[in-house]
Order: sequence, then structure tokens, then C-alpha cells
Amino acid sequence: MTQHYRITLLPGDGIGPEIMAVTVQVLKRIGEQFDLQFEFQEALMGGVAIDATGEPLPAATLEACRASDAVLLAAIGGPQWDNLPTQQRPERGLLGLRAGLGLFANLRPAKILPQLIDASTLKREVIDGVDLMVVRELTGGIYFGQPKGIFTTESGEKRGVNTMAYTESEIDRIGRVAFETARKRSHRLCSVDKANVLEVSQLWRTHMTELAKEYPDVELSHLYVDNAAMQLVRSPKQFDTIVTSNLFGDILSDAAAMLTGSIGMLPSASLGSTGPGVFEPVHGSAPDIAGQNKANPLAQVLSAAMMLRYGLHQPQAADRIEQAVLQVLDAGNRTGDILSPGMTLLGCREMGEALLNTLQSQ
Ligand code: NAD
Repeated sequence: MTQHYRITLLPGDGIGPEIMAVTVQVLKRIGEQFDLQFEFQEALMGGVAIDATGEPLPAATLEACRASDAVLLAAIGGPQWDNLPTQQRPERGLLGLRAGLGLFANLRPAKILPQLIDASTLKREVIDGVDLMVVRELTGGIYFGQPKGIFTTESGEKRGVNTMAYTESEIDRIGRVAFETARKRSHRLCSVDKANVLEVSQLWRTHMTELAKEYPDVELSHLYVDNAAMQLVRSPKQFDTIVTSNLFGDILSDAAAMLTGSIGMLPSASLGSTGPGVFEPVHGSAPDIAGQNKANPLAQVLSAAMMLRYGLHQPQAADRIEQAVLQVLDAGNRTGDILSPGMTLLGCREMGEALLNTLQSQ
């Protein structure tokens, strides 16, 4: 039976429209092969939305996203909007989207592709075979905890304050996403905290340990964040799924991403309890190469694969896209950002055509 999905597309700014166009073609081809019917609707977000409506996330866009099964976002921002007041900048749209859809879990995989192993700054033997996922809590912790602000003390000195706080229910919901994610992978979960110093981390660790009783098929371990940072660059292969708080996840997911060395290849997913998730590349809008057919569309295409796996529960269709990406790279095709000697340089559109041809012949 044909499955029908409504997908909101947010192409945004810079290279966004170029990489989105490739991804839509790939999804259409996958839809034909797996009996999935996608109804795409495009909406404004970021700088283009500011130019058209004065706001980075118009109410109509948020409504369209809420009414869809998944949201595919490209990238937003650019120098022409950099001097606007903070509240009107494109990036505010991202925060509005996360809050508006209740996206509390951010999933960022870091996988070393054998074809691109030399793009990493780390030694081949350290990173060969790395395939990990960072599950970061996105809407709580020190970025949101109260009190926050810069206050003046009784002695007249300024004092900056942020508060790291988590309730049990916040820990519970991110924990469940992480255990479920580990179940879809190799059934190993490492919870990262600072429980030797922070009470908030002690609650985090206690609750994760409690939750593990409900997931006996997942092996839970714990690491302090300083040790986790060290292990991530010393021996990243030991990790499968990592779950951590907003601040620690912000830092560790960037470090994990850089193990791969190729920003044009990294997808991400942001999920809530119910409702649509948002799937987007880790990179930005790359204004320096926008409109020149130079962008690497593969992070966006792999974000669509994450959408199929984590948002629409179509793992076979996701596998098919990921295999096609590997095959296209195996054949020596590269965009400029991942080009190495002896490989064939393709533009964004041509990379898309190579993917479609590969999907056709599979
Ligand atoms: P960026 O990721 O856009 O670009 C960094 C470098 O990587 C550039 O040299 C760029 O050409 C290259 N690059 C990035 N993606 C690429 C791709 N798919 N193919 C080939 N090369 C690629 O980061 P930046 O330059 O710091 O930011 C540019 C704009 O993007 C800013 O306005 C920033 O605020 C915004 N931004 C948006 C997001 C988002 O939408 N989630 C994330 C990060 C930055």
C-alpha cells in the first residue's frame, strides 16, 4: 500500500535551494522505488523570509511545519542579514522552529567513510571504522535554566550567571530517545555527565541508570565529560551512541563531527515527543559558493535519509540512499570540498545526477 507523507521544505539561503533541489529529486526517485508518495510544500525561513515578510520564521511557515510529517531544512543566514538586531536575525528562526515544534533531541552521526578517510586531521588507524551518534538534549540545561543574566552585586561588581538545571522528566525523555536510538544501532549507549562535581549530573546519572532497566538489550556506560572529550580524539571507535546534556553535547558533537573532516557530508536530526522532526545538514549556507553549482549536496541528501529512518520509520529507503552515496563516492565522484587527487570534480547538479543514476541501477 502506498504510504503518503507531507514534507515541508525550507530551502533557506545561500546554497540551500541548490542542495534542496537535488535532495527532492532523490526523494522522488526513492518514493517510486519504495511505494512512498511525498507531498512537498515549500515555505520561507531565514533571510529569504526576512526579505519577504520581515520575520525569519513567519507564522505560516511554523503552521505548515506543524501540519507536516517531517521538515527538511537546508541552511539559513548570510552576510546581508548579519547587521540586523538579534531578534530579527535569520538564526532566531532556528530557535523559533525548535521551540515551536518542541524539538528536545538533537541527533548527530559522525561516520568515517572509507572513501574520505584522508579528509580527517586524525591518523587513519585512529578513525578508520568510526561510526557514532551523539544524542544531545536541546531545549534544557544551562542555555535555558533560570536565573540567568548579568547582575550587579552589593559591592557594585558585575556577576554573570547561568544555571544548569534538569528535571527528571527532561532527563527521562532525552534518555528514551537515546536508548531507542542505540536500539537501532549496536545497542551500546554511553551517558556523558560531570557527576563527580555537579548535582544536576548526579540526577542525570541516577535517572539514566534507572531507565536502563527498561532497556535490558542496551548496554549503558557512563563517562565524565572531560574524559569523554579525551576518549573521543584518542580512541573514537569505542563509542556507538552517546547521550548528553545541551552544553556538553554542543561541544562534543562538534568535536565528533570534525573526526570526519568533511562538513559537506554531515546530516542531523532534531526530534520531539510527537509531531514532525526537523532534518538538516550540519553546515551553514556557504554564501561564498552560493549560486555557483559548487555545493556538496550529500549532507542534505543524508539528512533526507535520517528523515526516512528517524522521522518516517522507513529504514530500508534510508539504507538505499546511504548506499547510493557510498557508491557515488566509490566511483570517484567528488564536489570541490572533498576533492582529492585522481578523483572527478562534479558540480552540485552533476552530483545529484550521479546519485539518481546510481539509484536507478541499484
Ligand atoms: P558554513 O558551514 O556555511 O561554511 C563554512 C565553509 O564550509 C565555507 O567555506 C563553505 O563554502 C564550506 N561549506 C559549507 N557547506 C558546504 C557544502 N555543502 N558544500 C561545499 N562547501 C561547503 O559556515 P559559515 O561560513 O560560518 O556560515 C555562513 C552562514 O551560514 C552564516 O550566516 C551562518 O550564520 C549560517 N549558518 C547557518 C546554519 C544553519 O542553517 N543551521 C549553521 C551554521 C551557519
